[in-house]
Amino acid sequence: MAALRAFDAAKRQGNEGEIVPEIVCYEKQDDWGGQWNYSWRTGTDHYGEPVPSSMYRNLWSNGPKEALEFAEYTFDEHFGRPISSYPPREVLWDYIDGRASQYGGKGTKDRVKFAHAVRWVEWNEEDATFTLTVEDLRAKKTLTEVFDHVIVATGHFSFPNVPDFEGIGRFPGEIIHAHEFRGAERLADQRVLLIGGSYSAEDIGVQAHKMGATSVTMSYRSKPQGFAWPEGMEELPVIDRFEGSVVHFSDGSVREFDAVILCTGYLHHYPFLPDELSIDSGNNLYPAGLYRGTVWQKNPQLFYLGAQDQWFTFNMFDAQAWYVRDLILGRAALPDAAARQESIDAWLGRFNAIDGDPAAVQFQADYIRDLIEATDYPMFDLDEVVRIFLAWKKDKKTDILTYRDQPHRSVMTGTMATVHHTPWLAELDDSRERYLSTPDDAAEMARAEVEASVSVRD
Ligand code: NAP
Repeated sequence: MAALRAFDAAKRQGNEGEIVPEIVCYEKQDDWGGQWNYSWRTGTDHYGEPVPSSMYRNLWSNGPKEALEFAEYTFDEHFGRPISSYPPREVLWDYIDGRASQYGGKGTKDRVKFAHAVRWVEWNEEDATFTLTVEDLRAKKTLTEVFDHVIVATGHFSFPNVPDFEGIGRFPGEIIHAHEFRGAERLADQRVLLIGGSYSAEDIGVQAHKMGATSVTMSYRSKPQGFAWPEGMEELPVIDRFEGSVVHFSDGSVREFDAVILCTGYLHHYPFLPDELSIDSGNNLYPAGLYRGTVWQKNPQLFYLGAQDQWFTFNMFDAQAWYVRDLILGRAALPDAAARQESIDAWLGRFNAIDGDPAAVQFQADYIRDLIEATDYPMFDLDEVVRIFLAWKKDKKTDILTYRDQPHRSVMTGTMATVHHTPWLAELDDSRERYLSTPDDAAEMARAEVEASVSVRD
């Protein structure tokens, strides 16, 4: 969606002599939005395709919206009034859909061939083009098309990483990966084990707690998340073995569980790409082989958007999309292979020296700044966004159950977010209608309490 918007913006500028190329976007789902296009389905979809989205029904943003806001389409512009800092998924989908649908979707949605799955991308050395083999899932027809450039914008949170554990095959309860998790209601009165020590474990853990799980245990491999967990939530180190429904941990702890959710992350997996065009990396801030995090070093006619692990999200995808667009339009010059490698090595050196989260956020802010400086995407105060992230981290440390009730100020518009009418922990209806509705009396009282605590914090 960012790439379509970027090319559309260039077309609207109508620079004399500039030819904006013909663009086709293949999307295998019936609508756009990627992760934010929620599907109740898990496993395979109605076309027999693997379901790409890992979204769950009651997901709310886990970072402040002020850190992901588009610089050229603000929340104020979309909603016409301030909203709170951590919207639920329907509200965020509405925002990204609203931007891409501006101007009636002309130049964006009409470029998308929905229900089209790319099966293979072949590089043609002789004329420097790519041949794509694509399946029209509705018509059940296979077609081929030739392109000069390919932008891979599939993300890397669709194919779950599913490690094995001794004895897990005999666990009698339900075992799923976070990718298949759709809602925490059914975890009520269950003893839940989450394997992993990152955002999915944290967020599914607090969702399970919110929905009345008897206990939530999170098993970390490298380091504990270290929040002040409420009663009923705990962190334990790695699993030694399963014995039926009983799990033994490496520190000698033993617990019994009713349900297991693997929160073990995702794989960079591109079944439509030959290995020489495919990222082979863990989930990190600078996957090797990409110049400026976007241009495939081995073949600079192939680009990736959003291949990094993410602090910034939507606005980083924009910075990348604007830069890739400018390379394709010839507005920006691509350095030769040696100069590109020098740049990759310099960024990798910096990446490898990161020690701790503040440095990681600053790294991504600097990376985005470097891209924006090369384009006409509106520059914004990236250092202020870093400060918002650090405040967010502090709020989480203070109380993992209430950080989503805190408001932040937009760096794009200066608008202060509102305090939502209902604290996150008490809100059981995640719909857009409810989110944008007028508060009822009980919600108003709870909101007043949060507002009082916010002013104390200030
Ligand atoms: P992730 O950040 O890549 O973390 C994967 C976790 O799995 C790490 O803690 C890793 O441990 C652990 N792990 C991997 N293999 C393991 C093994 N064999 N045994 C034990 N632990 C293992 O993945 P994620 O947490 O799914 O997050 C993915 C993305 O989704 C993030 O960008 C996140 O922000 C997003 N997300 C957003 C929301 C929301 O907006 N509400 C909610 C959930 C997720 P090591 O640290 O040792 O490698």
